[in-house]
Amino acid sequence: MQTGKIGVTTENIFPIIKKFLYSDHEIFLREVMSNAVDATQKLKTLANMGDLKGELGDLTIRVAIDKKKGTLTVSDQGIGMTQEEIEKYINQIALSSAEDFLEKYKNQENAIIGHFGLGFYSTFMVSDKVEIITKSYKAKAKAIKWSCEGTPEYNIDNADKATRGTDVILYLDKDSKEFLEETKVNQLLNKYCRFLPVEIAFGKEKEWKDGKEVELEKNKVINDTNPLWTRKPADLKEEDYTKFYRDLYPISETPLFNIHLNVDYPFNLTGILYFPRIKNNIEIQKNKIQLYCNQVFVTDSVEGIVPEFLTLLHGVLDSPDIPLNVSRSYLQSDSNVKKISNHITKKVADRLAEIFKNDRKQFEKKWDDLKLFIEYGMISEEKFYEKAEKFTLLKNTDNKYFTLEEYQKLIKENQTDKNKTLIYLYTTNIDEQHSFVEAAKEKGYDVLVMDGQLDTHFLNHLEQKLKNSRFTRVDSDVIDKLVEKGETKELKLSSEQQNRLTPVFQGLLPDKANYLVSYEAMGENESPLLITQSEFMRRMKDMSSLGGGMNFYGEMPDSYNLVVNGNHTLILRLNDELEKKLSGDLKKIDEKIKPLNDNKAKLDKAVKDKKEEEIKQEDKDRIEELTKKISELQEKKNKLLKKFGNDNKLVKQLIDLALLANGMLKGEELTKFVKRSIELM
Ligand code: ADP
Repeated sequence: MQTGKIGVTTENIFPIIKKFLYSDHEIFLREVMSNAVDATQKLKTLANMGDLKGELGDLTIRVAIDKKKGTLTVSDQGIGMTQEEIEKYINQIALSSAEDFLEKYKNQENAIIGHFGLGFYSTFMVSDKVEIITKSYKAKAKAIKWSCEGTPEYNIDNADKATRGTDVILYLDKDSKEFLEETKVNQLLNKYCRFLPVEIAFGKEKEWKDGKEVELEKNKVINDTNPLWTRKPADLKEEDYTKFYRDLYPISETPLFNIHLNVDYPFNLTGILYFPRIKNNIEIQKNKIQLYCNQVFVTDSVEGIVPEFLTLLHGVLDSPDIPLNVSRSYLQSDSNVKKISNHITKKVADRLAEIFKNDRKQFEKKWDDLKLFIEYGMISEEKFYEKAEKFTLLKNTDNKYFTLEEYQKLIKENQTDKNKTLIYLYTTNIDEQHSFVEAAKEKGYDVLVMDGQLDTHFLNHLEQKLKNSRFTRVDSDVIDKLVEKGETKELKLSSEQQNRLTPVFQGLLPDKANYLVSYEAMGENESPLLITQSEFMRRMKDMSSLGGGMNFYGEMPDSYNLVVNGNHTLILRLNDELEKKLSGDLKKIDEKIKPLNDNKAKLDKAVKDKKEEEIKQEDKDRIEELTKKISELQEKKNKLLKKFGNDNKLVKQLIDLALLANGMLKGEELTKFVKRSIELM
């Protein structure tokens, strides 16, 4: 028996290990399993090179728990270690690299991807004592036992072990008893070891017999040693990919397409990426890609390794070339990681381009589920945009799909305005904006459907990319102004008549939003009143509600335009009625206002060029008095006009119809409208 002291200076490494990564201490199992796999692979390599005599035998790695002893044991039948090797690899190298690792990352434990690198000594995160019983493959090697109780002292002794390989026995500490539970161990093996390249057995196969679960003789193998991504694409069928997806994501819908990645130069990368169906809610979809390093699970959060939009994809990536024991901020600037990320972006774009080219029908069919992903990519990655602009699609209200180029051709003739800007008309909700969509179509315009979660951002982006182009929602203006062609129609209402009518409408508009009343010379067959919302205002509000950082707009009340069709017979009739009923009264007030206005104008003129202190107090008082009187009279006029509107059922009815056409008439107001309509009939 030999007793020694671990040859490094740090006395306090064990307490640090215990504390380190407390939330993630389960990774100890991955580290021990990886070592067992390595030892087995090395043995296979030796056998392949002819350096190993005799049979390899069964190479299964076994995991066992013993509740009575409180141990978890991992046994491999790999190369094993001689006494010298234990001293070198475990006592010196492994310990000093664990030390280096802890020293380097002690302040940023959460920043380390997957926490690779702590190695064998991570076992002390969960154990009071660890034993290694090992026998090297080398001829005449003696079995030995190493043990260490979480202090810098260790023991090495002869052991009783007949077969080649290594048992690592963890005496779990009182805080880690959960790792004695079969379900817990199963769960961890499934997470970290599911695709390890050597068979791993844990527990026995079970079967249902007579309504009871019974254990069979056979060991249960928990892993798939040949996962799909390690196989040749040529040998695989579509069903294989679908099945693999099901295994990975049992509750997700069938994916749209997949890409099998297989690169060995200038970096190593394999993997399978799936395009899931993404309807809405980007955030929930993120982070489903699993990252592996030589089939060992590392993490399922790949931000920093792939561009943001690709985190919407599902699947696995496996690369030994991604540095795994470094912080995320470092990763982003790592040149290998950059190359890998560019490569994946390119592959994804190429795959989509290929499907688009070879099977446009299929591509269109899947477009609605794919669109969010592609738009996200185009907005956030210039490189992706360059490729995707050839296959990204626009859908119109007839459910027809166009590429950007095709669509430009389609609308060029009819939807170019007087400034040579191409106007793309769109709706965000065909049902709610139905009357506007119909009006545009009647005019021979084409209308796009832009109802996706990212569409507002996307069309902003397109406007920056496409030359001389603008997107306008169908209800942002009256039809003749959507695509301004520079023709003007004559307005039958004079400006004085307009001024009179404005308060008539204003008195009856809903007060939840701001309305600006304006008059347009529209056709006699068009609506008498329309509610529009300027493209600019609405988009700013949309962006701010999506978190585009434009809070200023988000907090503003909605503002709309009430557009009065100054040529519509109903409006002209309303104007006639108003004149008949109120012209006498209004005239009287106007006659009173006139001399006051004249007087005030004179005074204003007189004081215009004077400095504040040069103006006589008398004049100041007079101006103030006149202003007050004028506004009192104006108010009186407005009251009369508002009362007229209130008494006239037609006005309210017209406003409600306009609100209704925009889907803005709801609740009590809608009920009242229905009642009033019946009364009117
Ligand atoms: P790493 O695996 O990154 O080298 P570890 O601390 O996990 O670091 O292991 C240190 C070394 O101990 C290994 O490189 C290997 O030489 C040896 N070792 C660990 N576990 C085993 C095992 N089960 N069989 C044979 N050798 C092992």
